[in-house]
Amino acid sequence: MNVMKDSMLLPIPSDQDASGRQLGDEEIEFLTQVIRSGTLTSTKGTFVKQLQTAFGELLGAAHCYACGSGTGAIHAAIAAVDPEPGDEIITSPITDMGAITPIIYQTAVPVFADVDPISGNVTAEAIERVIGPKTKAIVVTHLFGNPADMDSIMELADRHGIPVIEDCAQAYGATYGGKPIGTIGAIGCFSLQQGKHITTGEGGLVVSNDEGLARRIRLFIDKAWGYGDPKPDHYFAALNGRMTELQGAVALAQLGKLAHSVEQRQNTADRLTDMISTMPGIQVIETPAGGTQSYWRYGLHVTEGYGGPVALAGALRERDIASAPRYINKPAFECEVIRDQKTFGNSRFPFNLAREEVLDYAPENYQGTYDFLRSVLVLGWNEMLEEGHVDLIANQIAAHVESVE
Ligand SMILES: *Cc1c(COP(=O)(O)O)cnc(C)c1O
Repeated sequence: MNVMKDSMLLPIPSDQDASGRQLGDEEIEFLTQVIRSGTLTSTKGTFVKQLQTAFGELLGAAHCYACGSGTGAIHAAIAAVDPEPGDEIITSPITDMGAITPIIYQTAVPVFADVDPISGNVTAEAIERVIGPKTKAIVVTHLFGNPADMDSIMELADRHGIPVIEDCAQAYGATYGGKPIGTIGAIGCFSLQQGKHITTGEGGLVVSNDEGLARRIRLFIDKAWGYGDPKPDHYFAALNGRMTELQGAVALAQLGKLAHSVEQRQNTADRLTDMISTMPGIQVIETPAGGTQSYWRYGLHVTEGYGGPVALAGALRERDIASAPRYINKPAFECEVIRDQKTFGNSRFPFNLAREEVLDYAPENYQGTYDFLRSVLVLGWNEMLEEGHVDLIANQIAAHVESVE
């Protein structure tokens, strides 16, 4: 393969600025309407309400609520299942901290299931190993927009009567078994943060088909005040997690562009997969049977013989191609908040209530996690990438593996 010589003329679009985002006249138009209306709160305005209706309909979910962040969306989901102090909620060590700290804030102990060494997604097998009598829920992150193996996870969860919360922050538009990701478990959570498929800078969305859970989600986002009830009250402890109309306006415009964002990412990702999947030293992340990926990022694995992900990242950097070797570098349980149990004062709460075995983060319990981190390389991906960018990336990967041979 030829290495392109003019790569400097073809900078890779970034989702951290306009080059990699679909933000334009539609967002400005809705935003202008909100500002001229003078109604900036979602309790009185119409944009957040429209967003909730439209996103619920898009996913085929009966209920949808918007909130201030993806972390807030997960927090509302955890609060909806209402754990007792010391209950356990299973999550992934390869995810955003936003999928973990809400568990602690709702007084439950985060328990980490190991992940598949290639996809980085939790598996039913690993979840089963850590399920216990106090397991209250399972949070499943669909990493990089690649669906976790939901058939086996739902079979296990249903057998134990445990609700599944899908963390879809990276998985807008992904499907599994013909269903949109986010509608397979009891609750689906999405983020509108700067770098997701669609964005309002910060923001979140929660969907559910369960009437009871949906009511608690709605209440939790709004200080648990029973708007519309005959005798409203503040029913339980909850903060203000509401989305503003300003965010709602941008989100509604962005929603109209979601299908294009997903399709573009899939097209360019498929092109890269075709070009690199048979290269020596490279392993692509396959989609589980019956699923489709929506490529928040493009993850791949590099074997040690080819210098691992750090060497390839260095080669890509020579062409101004940014990438993240080893993704988050360390499992979530090695972060201070979990490792040192830095929670509320010096109480260590709720970890002080935990069964000892669920706090054993010994590497032999997390073989898949460490294997994944050792070899994964994550490429930035967004809807503005074009074939030329993909070819540039593929050519540089080819040049690197050939230089090793
Ligand atoms: C981005 C992200 C979150 C948190 O979303 P914020 O909007 O940043 O709070 C949670 N989980 C995953 C998997 C994410 O990628």
